[in-house]
Amino acid sequence: MASTLTRIVRAGAWSLKWVPVIIVIALSIWAIYVYNVIFLVDIVDSWVFKVFFGVIFNVLAVLFAFSYFMTISCKIASPPEEYMFADELVPELRAATTIEELNNTLKNFATEAGVRVKTYDHHGNIRFCKHCQIIKPDRACHCSLCNRCVLKYDHHCVWVNNCVHYANYKAFILFLLYGVLWCLWGSATSLPTIIDVLRYAAHRAPIQVVAMFFAAGVFGVSMAILLFFHIYLIAKNLTTIESARPPILETGPNSKAFNLGCAQNFVQVFGTNPWLWPFPVFSSLGNGHHFPKTRTLQERYALLPCDDIQGCSSSDETDDLTSTEPYLNV
Ligand SMILES: [Zn+2]
Ligand SMILES: [Zn+2]
Repeated sequence: MASTLTRIVRAGAWSLKWVPVIIVIALSIWAIYVYNVIFLVDIVDSWVFKVFFGVIFNVLAVLFAFSYFMTISCKIASPPEEYMFADELVPELRAATTIEELNNTLKNFATEAGVRVKTYDHHGNIRFCKHCQIIKPDRACHCSLCNRCVLKYDHHCVWVNNCVHYANYKAFILFLLYGVLWCLWGSATSLPTIIDVLRYAAHRAPIQVVAMFFAAGVFGVSMAILLFFHIYLIAKNLTTIESARPPILETGPNSKAFNLGCAQNFVQVFGTNPWLWPFPVFSSLGNGHHFPKTRTLQERYALLPCDDIQGCSSSDETDDLTSTEPYLNV
């Protein structure tokens, strides 16, 4: 009985998670119907404008739907096996009574497993997930809704019912971009109709076109705000979490820890092939658990002969910017 109840509750919770996605899909289908069937057929008189408006609107709709599907359907990228503790090591982990003991156990494990991390928790210890019993790779975080650690975790988005992370971040950005452009095109081209309605109380008030105009405005503005925020994050090579809590390196918190410069940060997300940039197919660089790290001036001085230090004018220098190989100089 109890197990049946549990199953029903779980099924209910699972269904509820899809409600926002169903709302987005239903609104999108309705907007496509209103624009094509009511606005273009009934209201726009010129065939040239019917075709021009319709082609751009529907191309943006397809790109939006494609990006949305790829963001939703993306399988979550979890840390590779070498970060996980084998079952026989768990008792040793549980036996640790202080943070120092736990950290020493983690260090020993990391050394033996060949696991390399560059970021630490606020105590300066190796980051460890007690739920998954793994060493957290750099930039990975545990998602409590998905109940797993997720590579380059940005946030869990209820509108896509998925984690936004390393594997679908590009698709998510394109989903926002095409969503904004789609809303903008729909509302801009229907604006003259709305002005007619307001000015002349039009004899055949296209109530659904008016509703679509305002819905496009609300969703367009909301998505634009989110898009601009994520453009800022890409420019700085930060995740949403890192923008609030900078990654902690050996030298302390550093919001520039992974910042390679604006252009290279963009390439990290969108890849090196410009033909793939407009499409929501995976083309990000790297493997999701090793990232080129900004080298601080202090670290650079340690590697340079004294003469070279005089010529240094910038506060940060980066690793090999185009390499997709793990950064080994820990
Ligand atoms: Zn976890
Ligand atoms: Zn999640």
